[in-house]
Amino acid sequence: MHRIGVLTSGGDAPGMNAAVVSVARFAALYDMELVGIKRGYNGLLRKRKHIEDDMEILALDTVLDIADQPGTYLRTARCIEFLNPDVREFAVRNLREMEIEGLIVIGGDGSFNGAMALCNLGMPCIGIPGTIDNDLAYTERSLGYDTAVNVCVNSVRMIRATSRSHDRVAVVEVMGRNCGDIALRTAMCTGSEILIVPEQTFNMYQIANRIESLMRDGDTRATVIVAEGVFQNQNMEPFDAYEYLSARDPEWGKKHSPNQPLDSHTLAKALRYMVPGCEARSTVLGYIQRGSAPYAEDAAFAFESGALAVKLLKDGIQEQVIGVRNGKVFFMPIREALGLKPKFDKNLYDLINAL
Ligand code: ADP
Repeated sequence: MHRIGVLTSGGDAPGMNAAVVSVARFAALYDMELVGIKRGYNGLLRKRKHIEDDMEILALDTVLDIADQPGTYLRTARCIEFLNPDVREFAVRNLREMEIEGLIVIGGDGSFNGAMALCNLGMPCIGIPGTIDNDLAYTERSLGYDTAVNVCVNSVRMIRATSRSHDRVAVVEVMGRNCGDIALRTAMCTGSEILIVPEQTFNMYQIANRIESLMRDGDTRATVIVAEGVFQNQNMEPFDAYEYLSARDPEWGKKHSPNQPLDSHTLAKALRYMVPGCEARSTVLGYIQRGSAPYAEDAAFAFESGALAVKLLKDGIQEQVIGVRNGKVFFMPIREALGLKPKFDKNLYDLINAL
């Protein structure tokens, strides 16, 4: 291959830029030209007025400096049209017109579905996992996950300075739509006492009882780590937050509607009523979890996966995704990888909630 492309798709993740730099370095080593495709699959559709806004030749000296930057230099965006087979054929025609012979897709499972569809149209693709949630079953780690965990761990430690000083319970919401990995690892690394994840149902009264017993035993700064997906997945045993809170705080009830779903703030507010003396406060960490330069695990995986992706294309191997298994970087067919069921570490979950 003389010219290959790279794009980032799905949510941005620290390490995406480092992976692009690694791809650029190894492409240069094999005398391949590298084209950066902008805004995920949108760039393949040539929607913008100027071609440079959709595709850009990535010269090594342009990209070297972005390796340690979070976010993605290539930008990322949803591309709903890409679900349409005619649109994908148009994308492949554009790639051929640009003389791009293979594509490296950095993203999550949605992006990998897109890559698989392009392979079916004869465009060789390799996937590199880039998503902080770590929700891809085939790999132990995806780009951004370790960095997000490090940010969460540092943040919980900072929040705890105040929790400890004021004897307050902290509720900290971290990312993770369907996957509680960030929450689980953050809870484990910070010694947090209560973990709520989308993979397990939870019961508000049990949580309140546990906080009460922790406080009775002298742990007055207990920490609850909750994954954002918990509130969207409704994996909670019946608890009508509106009914409970509006009965105790009518002013709050006037400002909220009866279908008010539970979130971190209402969870903390409910705990304040449910547990005598519990001054629970909530913090939603939000986008800062994606905002750090990649930590060593992500930077190293970016280096190895970028190099391997280019080598696979050079060797004529396609329709593969790269991942980590038993601590080693490996590759496997996209289709098989996407067919695997996620595993949740119930033992660690139980341990965190028991200690
Ligand atoms: P992630 O890659 O992080 O899972 P998304 O689910 O938002 O993120 O997917 C990113 C993009 O991948 C979508 O906007 C779309 O362009 C493409 N995509 C997702 N699912 C498919 C699919 N089944 N077929 C083709 N392309 C898809």
